[in-house]
Amino acid sequence: MIKLIAGRKVVSKTVIVLLVASLMVIPGYAIAGAPNTLAIGTPHKPAFVQNLDELIDVEVERRTLPSRPVVPTTTDVNIIELLQQLNETLILGYLENLTAFGPRETGTEGCDQAAHYLYNTLKNIGLAVRYHNYTDDAVSGSNIEATLFGADPTNIFIICGHYDTVPAGPGADDDGSGVAAVLAAAELMSKYEFGHTVRFVAFSGEEQGLIGSRHYAEDAYNNNDSIVAVLNADMIGYTATGSDGKQGKIFENTASEWIVDFTQDISVLYNDYIDIQLIPQGETWGSDHYYFWEYGYDAVFYHEFHFNDYYHSVDDTIAHMNLTYSTRFSRLILATLATMAQAPRPVLEITDITGGLGISAQITNIGDSDAIDVNATIGITGGLFGFINITATTSVPLLETQGTVPLKAKFFRLGRITITVIADASNTDQVTKQATGFVLGPFVLRVTGIP
Ligand SMILES: [Zn+2]
Repeated sequence: MIKLIAGRKVVSKTVIVLLVASLMVIPGYAIAGAPNTLAIGTPHKPAFVQNLDELIDVEVERRTLPSRPVVPTTTDVNIIELLQQLNETLILGYLENLTAFGPRETGTEGCDQAAHYLYNTLKNIGLAVRYHNYTDDAVSGSNIEATLFGADPTNIFIICGHYDTVPAGPGADDDGSGVAAVLAAAELMSKYEFGHTVRFVAFSGEEQGLIGSRHYAEDAYNNNDSIVAVLNADMIGYTATGSDGKQGKIFENTASEWIVDFTQDISVLYNDYIDIQLIPQGETWGSDHYYFWEYGYDAVFYHEFHFNDYYHSVDDTIAHMNLTYSTRFSRLILATLATMAQAPRPVLEITDITGGLGISAQITNIGDSDAIDVNATIGITGGLFGFINITATTSVPLLETQGTVPLKAKFFRLGRITITVIADASNTDQVTKQATGFVLGPFVLRVTGIP
């Protein structure tokens, strides 16, 4: 693993050197590269649908959804272990197998062969696999779904991509890259136990107008499936420049913004393995996440930063992909999924420290399970001649989800002070927050948080 990271640094340096060299050698290179700038804004769409009004409209009531998972403040050894195992060799292997079937247009031999390959691969991994068959006016086909049951199987998290392609191309990036991420996540996560259920899904009929995913989301809705989040990866393996490799796009609707925040927090937490900054793009109907939105589920669509110049052509090949980028993007989605699927846990948060008559603060459990034996302390130091050293402590045996514990310290002093609030529980990480203020008798003024 250390070798791989070192190698990547060398590659990116080489790319930068080459870019700088090319700019010096060929004046006007930037102008010649102008079409690439246009390509960045090209939206990903099903091949045979031009406008949203060509898609079938769904009108359902959004159901009350289960509580959302919360990103922990520290890294997890199991997640790091997962990330270390997701390497370029793994992604390349899956990409080679998928593209070997040639074009995989839904309803053709190539697509059927790919479907069998996906079914068998997921079965061999040891997961519960099924064909989710659908019949539609436009096209009929099969989605492949593999399930890793959680300790509590009620809530479901989905990672997905589409394995069908346009008639022209081998679809390495569109969407071999997404399906490779799905397979890699399935292979690696199957060796671990999770608190919640995870489904690994490969759709077909995407190019005909999101047909496979529409039927899948419809059936999930009718089945009352408690899907908390859908992570759709479609084209995550192409870069045109070195800087493209440091960025990615994420499409979301308002209800799904929490998944954007979650993924961004994960990318910061595990930056050593990911190194991709995600830029939110808002809504698009152009990939398989769309019908999950329509059926009232929260979903996002992950996409490369620079749109693939070989999109929907015979040249959408592995040779035109950036495997390092594809691997790191797959890791980002894997770490997000695996963290979401972990057992519910409490997460303590110290909400604003305020002055007035003494110092007030509040501890909130923003996690998705009870915090046990919560202890919270306000410590105050400083003052004139450094004479102030006060602590006030509160303890509760149990703090429910969204429950709060108020903290208060009253005293009579003078001078500048530093306030430190610490909270912990027997079943979660300790949190700390600091602020400064000024004490004048019983009053605390000018309280400002220290970031
Ligand atoms: Zn696609």
